[in-house]
Amino acid sequence: MCYSTSAPTTKLFIDGKFVESKTSEWVDIHNPATNEVIGRVPKATQAEMLAAVDSCSRAYHSWSETSILTRQQIFLRYQQLIKENIVMLGKDLVSGLHLPETHACGITSLMLGETLPSITKDMDTHTYRLPLGVCAGITPFNFPAMIPLWMFPMGMVCGNTYLLKPSERVPGCAMLLAKMLQDAGAPDGTLNIIHGQHEAVNFICDHPAIKAISFVGSNQAGEYIYERGSKNGKRVQSNMGAKNHGVVMPDANKENTLNQLVGAAFGAAGQRCMALSTAILVGEARSWLPELLERAKALRVNAGDQPGADVGPLITPQAKARVESLIQSGVDEGATLLLDGRNVQVKGYENGNFVGPTILSKVTPQMKCYTEEIFGPVLLVLEADSLDEAVGIVNKNPYGNGTAIFTTNGATARKYTHEVEVGQVGVNVPIPVPLPMFSFTGSRGSFRGDTNFYGKQGIYFYTQIKTVTSQWKAEDATLKSPAVTMPT
Ligand code: NAD
Repeated sequence: MCYSTSAPTTKLFIDGKFVESKTSEWVDIHNPATNEVIGRVPKATQAEMLAAVDSCSRAYHSWSETSILTRQQIFLRYQQLIKENIVMLGKDLVSGLHLPETHACGITSLMLGETLPSITKDMDTHTYRLPLGVCAGITPFNFPAMIPLWMFPMGMVCGNTYLLKPSERVPGCAMLLAKMLQDAGAPDGTLNIIHGQHEAVNFICDHPAIKAISFVGSNQAGEYIYERGSKNGKRVQSNMGAKNHGVVMPDANKENTLNQLVGAAFGAAGQRCMALSTAILVGEARSWLPELLERAKALRVNAGDQPGADVGPLITPQAKARVESLIQSGVDEGATLLLDGRNVQVKGYENGNFVGPTILSKVTPQMKCYTEEIFGPVLLVLEADSLDEAVGIVNKNPYGNGTAIFTTNGATARKYTHEVEVGQVGVNVPIPVPLPMFSFTGSRGSFRGDTNFYGKQGIYFYTQIKTVTSQWKAEDATLKSPAVTMPT
């Protein structure tokens, strides 16, 4: 917490205006490469949060009645503005960010209802796909542009208004996105942004005007939000943590596999929910470990904005301490520390939250480093004698976000994709994040809810169905007496 007034403050976005919070409680924002305070984010007051949700409620009526073509046009302009400003948003932050956006622009087909004429004499049924009301999103620190863009464009293009609470660690990106949305023509009140931590989350879970909550982040927060929001009668979709396994078969293309594995384990310092943090070397592929090690050693640790940096810092000193203690727990429980990234020194950034690439081999499923998500540049290596054994290991892990198999054998790939109980499966694709015409399909401990993010599923999450049955009889078909039976 910070009480100084020198660092720049993040505004709230309420009813189309960027406003300074009147709160007395602020959270410091740090540069993870130096730990210098670079800004402050407010914990919005109850009055400010109420003003934001009231603004969403007021805007809902006219926004939901706005023609779908007008809403589509706004998001087409928005997509263009994001593309034009992609450098300012920061290429690393926004990789792939415009994609769900693209899908929002296909809304005129996605919102189509269904029709069945003549279900009985003179009677037709048709359905409308309609918005829910005010929807809310709560987002994590990683992918501070992409994940908000999984949420409010999809919700809004369907006719909902939207309340966003970005991660308090990286709130700036969401504010830029809000400004661009305003410039693209979204009316005041259709998107409001509040900041904060637990109180803001509880406010979203409890406020009766909010009909649906989208959450992406850790299991601790996501399970809590799923339960509290659901108890209050809201729809909740909750994308959470992961332990993604890469199964390496001995017939795989060795060069590609090792390069893909190292990139997917250590890229973004392992702070991706789809990071490939666990390798299972099957049979003869065990002998590839020394070459894997060489590739990991060659990665350069540096501040993310420095040329040639492969592995940047972790988000906070607490995250660094947690990752280091999980590495130690692996050592204490009998794993082999092949590469130790603790105590890495980065010249000019001695106070940053850096952990270098780390590899623990001889890991077993009982170890704490295996059962917990590490969310750092740490690759665990397990071994298996057969594909069946590898599938068994993956399916017993509580998480089900992503996985990949590396093989040149089609039958092996098919067996794996059919037997593995994980939402997103890659075949020689290390990070199989689906493009936006599909949906992000984490499963088991990585997801709560029944309707996934973006794609068709995203549209279903943010809409409800109204079914209209109409009968238009000709004059001479007038009923002669009361019809007491159910019409069929
Ligand atoms: P986090 O859970 O700490 O924070 C996410 C949001 O929840 C923030 O807005 C935060 O203010 C709020 N929050 C944090 N703790 C809370 C609590 N105890 N109660 C209520 N609200 C709380 O997550 P993070 O550290 O910002 O992000 C990393 C996590 O997100 C990792 O577990 C990662 O796997 C996961 N993630 C998942 C996906 C996915 O699609 N499955 C994508 C990205 C990140």
